Amino acid sequence: MLNLLEVISNTTCPEVSIGKHCFAPYECSLREKCWGFLPENSIFDLRGGKTKQFSLYERGIISISDIPNDVPLSREQQIQRECVITGTTHVEKEEIRLFLDMLKYPLYYLDFETMGPAIPIYDGTRPYQTIPFQFSLHVVENDGAEPVHHSFLADGIDDPRPQLLHELQRLLGSEGSIIAYNSGFEEGVLKELVEAFPEYAYWLEGILTRMVDLLLPFSNFLYYHASQKDTASLKKVLPAITGRGYEELGIGDGMDASIAYERIIYSDATQEEIASVRADLLKYCKLDTEGMIWIVERLRHLCQ
Ligand code: SF4
Repeated sequence: MLNLLEVISNTTCPEVSIGKHCFAPYECSLREKCWGFLPENSIFDLRGGKTKQFSLYERGIISISDIPNDVPLSREQQIQRECVITGTTHVEKEEIRLFLDMLKYPLYYLDFETMGPAIPIYDGTRPYQTIPFQFSLHVVENDGAEPVHHSFLADGIDDPRPQLLHELQRLLGSEGSIIAYNSGFEEGVLKELVEAFPEYAYWLEGILTRMVDLLLPFSNFLYYHASQKDTASLKKVLPAITGRGYEELGIGDGMDASIAYERIIYSDATQEEIASVRADLLKYCKLDTEGMIWIVERLRHLCQ
């Protein structure tokens, strides 16, 4: 307590080294400031737990490129070090080819946007339940065909799920791969939807057998570029592999999308604001599925 009072009465910040305490019990809001001295590709960008990162830091090693050869590294960490030191991209062509061979036309690139209201809005839902309100779907009928875009964005205050399910069933056909990025999320959303609307249970069984996760080549380090740091998220992978990103969009991630949607639906937004947010939501969700098409094309090109 005495220490705390001393710190509060000081006019300058105390000198505290970064450490595991910066994440306990939650990530500290001053992380950007205190951790800002770290170089690009620091050891804190290594895949894996914090224990190795802090043991290297305590040895005075802060750059991935400075990790000595005698430090045991996992396969993923070795790939990271190699890419940082050589400036090259890691590509495992054979494994990527096997992944691409799993894709069966027509290809359906699917992405959901969801919200999780703390206070349930719709009958039969619970606090924080994931409620999809939007999807983007690109369909590529066959090799070389132009992608056709479909989208759904709920309007009004009614439960968006019945209409969303109806549209999905109409558009997803009965054969061909359904590709999602981190497909476990899309699958979870679909399963929860069908719990609420069991008349779709038989349809869902067929859908789940067709799902393919485009995250896998990246989470398994079959492709890795140092700019991804320690993540295989679409927001990092898309610019790393295609050079294109999300910079010019009014909505930058799923959380933004959810907040924006709830704001226009459940507050007194003007018609102008509603139109502008809806346009941003449609653009953002479309880029997620379009981005997946570009990624698959790029992977194919790399494997030629
Ligand atoms: S980030 Fe927070 S916890 Fe970590 S050293 Fe800075 S102020 Fe302390």
